Amino acid sequence: MSDSAASSARPAAPAQRPPLMALDEALAILLQKAQPKLPVEEVGTFDADGRVLAQDVVSALTVPPRDNSSMDGYAVRAADCAAPGAVLRVAQRIPAGTVGAPLAAGTAARIFTGAQVPEGADAIVMQEDTEALPQEGGLGAVRIAVAPAVGQWIRRAGEDVAAGDVVLRRGERLTPAGLGLAASVGFDRLQVTRRPRVALLSTGDELVMPGEVAPEAMKPGAIYNSNRFFMRALLHRLGCEVSDMGIVPDRREATIEALRSAAEHNDLIITTGGVSVGEEDHIKAAVQALGELQLWSLSMKPGKPFAYGSIARSGGEAQGRCHVTGLPGNPVSSFLTFLLLVRPFLLTLQGATRVAPEPVSMRADFDWPRADKRREFLRARRNAAGGLDLFPNQSSGVLTSMVWGEGVIDNPAGQTIRAGDSVRFIPLTSLLA
Ligand code: AMP
Ligand code: MG
Repeated sequence: MSDSAASSARPAAPAQRPPLMALDEALAILLQKAQPKLPVEEVGTFDADGRVLAQDVVSALTVPPRDNSSMDGYAVRAADCAAPGAVLRVAQRIPAGTVGAPLAAGTAARIFTGAQVPEGADAIVMQEDTEALPQEGGLGAVRIAVAPAVGQWIRRAGEDVAAGDVVLRRGERLTPAGLGLAASVGFDRLQVTRRPRVALLSTGDELVMPGEVAPEAMKPGAIYNSNRFFMRALLHRLGCEVSDMGIVPDRREATIEALRSAAEHNDLIITTGGVSVGEEDHIKAAVQALGELQLWSLSMKPGKPFAYGSIARSGGEAQGRCHVTGLPGNPVSSFLTFLLLVRPFLLTLQGATRVAPEPVSMRADFDWPRADKRREFLRARRNAAGGLDLFPNQSSGVLTSMVWGEGVIDNPAGQTIRAGDSVRFIPLTSLLA
């Protein structure tokens, strides 16, 4: 990057600094670019976790279909047991899955959880509040110790879903609970958007892979490729199919070749590193050689340089274009630009409607006296007192901060923080799902 420029004999002309672009503006442009959406496919409900629905799920039935018991016990008419210790003849037995006869006045029905409440009954008495009075060869009788209230322990028909309800909407990302809800109204298959196909490229001649070189054998200047590991995991968690193309050398031709081949079968290429404007940074020139590129200087710390572009495929424009996002090389910058920009982009490509991070308001238990001109994302974690502690080193290369932190504080540009202030906290759990 700037090292080689600094060592040249003549001082280089000051590089032209593009004005900083607000993160929200960059995000708005990116989301517009996430068109057309990926095609729709049908999958089994068992396999649909994490996928984005491409249909409304409309219930054809009422759930529960009839009033049913939420306890093991006795179905009664409340009026028959208003006096404490009332004794009723047990006239029938109704296990779940069977339908009882109408309940005659002055009788009780032995009933089990989930079984349909017989006509005429208006309360369930849980068995713990009764005493069974067995009788040889019959169902016997029951003593009701506690007078029931009308309606007690009855789950009402339709209290979960009414026929015609939209229980899940197009654009929702399916969760385990969503799969259960779809199944509860009879859907064994669902229309979802196809998984994004994403190629991952790491740039940098200094990078080596753990396992290939032992720590004690690392050459001066070499570092392990850590971005590749968290990127791949982040993409998998987002439901992407990942083609990991490994480390691309810091050469223009090699970068062009890697991008050209990745564009053929992918919806998006993600690169890390090489996106600044130093002479070892080849992403910009390589994408421009194959398509279009915009290089942004984001008002965001960490994570300043970011590129968006697109590359035509060999089959021509009819084959559509492959998106490219160029992320900064510093690990924390890479991680955060992925979460705040690439993740919403990939979700939008899948037709998801909720894509922005959802901050919560929390109390800062620290001072942050030096305001920055960029919007900052400070790694922090919750303490036992219900406030937030700050990781001591907020440098963009310190990956430890992302592991220690449970999330990031979204601190506006020019803002200092004093202990006791309310801040916007974005929990990582909401971004890693
Ligand atoms: P660059 O934008 O390529 O100049 O990279 C900025 C910083 O991030 C440099 O210190 C790189 O060594 C570092 N870096 C780039 N790529 C990776 C990676 N895949 N893993 C860890 N560090 C990286
Ligand atoms: Mg580099």
